[in-house]
Amino acid sequence: MSDETPICSAKGCRAEAVWVLAWNNPKIHTPERRKTWLACEEHREHLSQFLGVRGFLKDVVLLKEWESAREA
Ligand SMILES: [Zn+2]
Repeated sequence: MSDETPICSAKGCRAEAVWVLAWNNPKIHTPERRKTWLACEEHREHLSQFLGVRGFLKDVVLLKEWESAREA
């Protein structure tokens, strides 16, 4: 196991992350700010719902695409 392997943010999950959930809490973050959670295939929906019901979720992108977008 390498430290470079991104791991799912769900509690107790050690699976490799596939998705990036970008979110923003308007009460504490400026509108452009993006916090990120990582999610495996299994937890993407669960974590998306958690953020979605609070109105925090902005974007769900594949980790590969997120990283390539950052490098660009
Ligand atoms: Zn997971």
